[in-house]
Amino acid sequence: MEKFDVIVLGAGIVGVCTALHLQFKGYNVCLVDKKDPGQGTSYGNAGLIERSSVIPYHFPREFSRLLAYALNRQPDVRFDWTYLLKIAPWLFRFWQQSSQKNLEIATQAMLPLIENSVKEHDFLAAKTGATSFIEPKGWLEIYHTEKAFNEAKKHLLTLQRFHLAYDILDRQKLQERVPFISSAMIGAIHWLDPKTVNDPDGLTAAYANYFIKQGGSFLKLDAFKTKNNDGTWQIEDQGHSVSAPDIVVALGAQSVRFLNRFGYHHIPFAIKRGYHIHYRKVDQNTSLAHSICDPVSGFVLAPMRQGIRLTTGIEFANPEAPAYWTQIKRVEKIAKSIFPLGDPIEARPWLGERPCLSDMRPVIGKAPKHHGLWLNFGHAHHGLTLGPVSGKLLAGMMTGEQPLTSPNLFSLTRFTR
Ligand SMILES: Cc1cc2nc3c(=O)[nH]c(=O)nc-3n(C[C@H](O)[C@H](O)[C@H](O)COP(=O)(O)OP(=O)(O)OC[C@H]3O[C@@H](n4cnc5c(N)ncnc54)[C@H](O)[C@@H]3O)c2cc1C
Repeated sequence: MEKFDVIVLGAGIVGVCTALHLQFKGYNVCLVDKKDPGQGTSYGNAGLIERSSVIPYHFPREFSRLLAYALNRQPDVRFDWTYLLKIAPWLFRFWQQSSQKNLEIATQAMLPLIENSVKEHDFLAAKTGATSFIEPKGWLEIYHTEKAFNEAKKHLLTLQRFHLAYDILDRQKLQERVPFISSAMIGAIHWLDPKTVNDPDGLTAAYANYFIKQGGSFLKLDAFKTKNNDGTWQIEDQGHSVSAPDIVVALGAQSVRFLNRFGYHHIPFAIKRGYHIHYRKVDQNTSLAHSICDPVSGFVLAPMRQGIRLTTGIEFANPEAPAYWTQIKRVEKIAKSIFPLGDPIEARPWLGERPCLSDMRPVIGKAPKHHGLWLNFGHAHHGLTLGPVSGKLLAGMMTGEQPLTSPNLFSLTRFTR
């Protein structure tokens, strides 16, 4: 039996950053995944380190928007009715938590994490030699109509208290900042605080490689083989046998299924699926200068090392179901009308699973019923953004440091009380 101080389950951006921060504190850490680091949802996101998304993604409350979604033809959200019925209790709680009052609670809870997101990525990138993956370019929210652009500008006034940095670009300035963008675009808001990652999978792998180089262990094991023997956490799999007094669950979308096995039920959790596909440039010169987001259609076009990545909004469908083309096809048409895209690079789209709690905040902290069981999951739309800061927060909690924010806000007991 190989003994460690801590086992971290899941080598996505959240697990890798947690393992690194524990290692910085002198812990002997074993990082476990069934695949190579960064091959889960952390592989394929839009690459935004979203310092400007201070208001969490919430359930729309305007009747006109709900009606439009009910027809199931919108580009930003698609659903299978059968899955929607299955997650109806979660949807109801999500809707409740999206009231103005509750949304403000979630916003305030998340703010210290969001505010530190870029700083903590920069720290890890410098330490691990991964700075070339992160670009200080911000991203642009683009608008097709005067009406939507004016509404977005009006909304900026409500965000003033967050002191975010942005440029408002009219049609001509947008053309200058993003060459080749369609002249039909009315304008954009260029968010300047965020940074972008040009290869999210590469970044997670670079963080993980540094962890291994510094003496951390990475093993390909099935986390579901974990047992608790008299307070010691053990995994026996693939000829390996590892144990530790502490274990961290950072299994992304699989975290709640794992916790069910240890008697933690009624966690209001659902998966929002999302896709990406890459396109070639139409010619050598036609590069996309910045990541651009069409908020109405819910997609992002991001310049990645692999090509121009198109990521979609939300799909509510059985997590076991195969990838569907529907949503990619809906947004591809709009994306091509905004920016010239060449042929798709892959034969089928990549599919990822955003792990979402109904109150729009992750679970970070100790599990209430077991000694040495720690949790770091549920980062929803912002796991890439929050990986380093939530890894640091959890490592600090485990070593009894003064946390950067109240741990109660992220405790599992908010659901299990
Ligand atoms: C289309 C799309 C676009 C997105 N864009 C952004 C963005 O721009 N910015 C942003 O901040 N976030 C974005 N996100 C969200 C972000 O990608 C996720 O929140 C984040 O990747 C979650 O990280 P994680 O480490 O919790 O999960 P994962 O990356 O899924 O890691 C979980 C790990 O657990 C492992 N695992 C599962 N089961 C087992 C098992 N039985 N045994 C061993 N290992 C197991 C998996 O292999 C995986 O490596 C996007 C998501 C999608 C889908």
